[in-house]
Amino acid sequence: MGDYHLHLHRHGRAHELDPPPGVYPAGHIEAYVEAAAARGVHELGFTEHLYRCEDAAGVLGRFWEREPVAWLADQTERFLAEDRTLNLERYVETIVDAQERGLPVLLGLEVDFFPETIDAVVEFLAPYPWDFLIGSVHWVGGWAIDHEDAVAAFDERGVDRAYEQFFALEAQLAASGAVDALAHVDVVKKHGHRPPRERTDLYDEVVTAAAGSGVAVEVSSGGLRNPAAEVYPAPALLSRFYDAGVPITLASDGHSPHQAAWGRDEVVAAARAAGYTERSQFRKRRRTQVPIESRPEGPSDLEAGGDGGAGRPAATVDDIGPEGDGEHGEHYQQRDDR
Ligand SMILES: [Zn+2]
Ligand SMILES: [Zn+2]
Repeated sequence: MGDYHLHLHRHGRAHELDPPPGVYPAGHIEAYVEAAAARGVHELGFTEHLYRCEDAAGVLGRFWEREPVAWLADQTERFLAEDRTLNLERYVETIVDAQERGLPVLLGLEVDFFPETIDAVVEFLAPYPWDFLIGSVHWVGGWAIDHEDAVAAFDERGVDRAYEQFFALEAQLAASGAVDALAHVDVVKKHGHRPPRERTDLYDEVVTAAAGSGVAVEVSSGGLRNPAAEVYPAPALLSRFYDAGVPITLASDGHSPHQAAWGRDEVVAAARAAGYTERSQFRKRRRTQVPIESRPEGPSDLEAGGDGGAGRPAATVDDIGPEGDGEHGEHYQQRDDR
């Protein structure tokens, strides 16, 4: 089993128990590895946010300035000022060092998709030894579509139009060939906004684009920690991906050690319900297919806590742990995922 979407820092102001932004203390990555192993997951793909890296600010540009709705542009500018606290070089060094120490970790990145800058971003990222890249639509123009401080925009423009704009960008991302997997491909539902009728018509374009480019799609428990209360992608969308032959990765989008491999059983159940028996594994951006429950082969396999992959049941929303979503309420919970 693998978790191909993990972050080493939470968003915004650090929790008192967290390392400060950009600091990777001894044992931090090991804590993720141990938490995942306890859930039967033995391959961890870290995917820090490109937009959070100060040294990537130039290549993404001041994209919010293209946003015609002033308050949305302002919200994004404020959010970036608070959240852009990491360094790409330092992050890459940290993961490569963990690999050299024999930990079962992969070097990935969560790449923000903007049609205007994706080619420059691909070039910017080319020198690094990525195992895989995931691609995300977090912004429609300058609107941070998954941010709790910008949800009023759903009322202003209408849920259907928001879905149309979001999925148009997802389809462009899927067709671009820039990344290896699509992250939270229907994150537009995160805060519980649903069109009166499920927009399966919008699914077809992104599925066709993904099948054409060969990109995988992640099945993520992240939606279960939010008002959407559903795995990403929705069942009707994941079934379409399966029918079109689009491969999957498995993901938690965890932002702290206790979230590593969180929701494993729900993710596996969703994948199996759509028909999947295999997941994708990446090394140096080359994909192979392995059974969903398999463990990685080779020297990076971690035996500590080894339980043959059976694992214990994933935590439920209620027992996510003392640092978890429950005790800090909705606000904290929603800031925890992106
Ligand atoms: Zn994301
Ligand atoms: Zn993420």
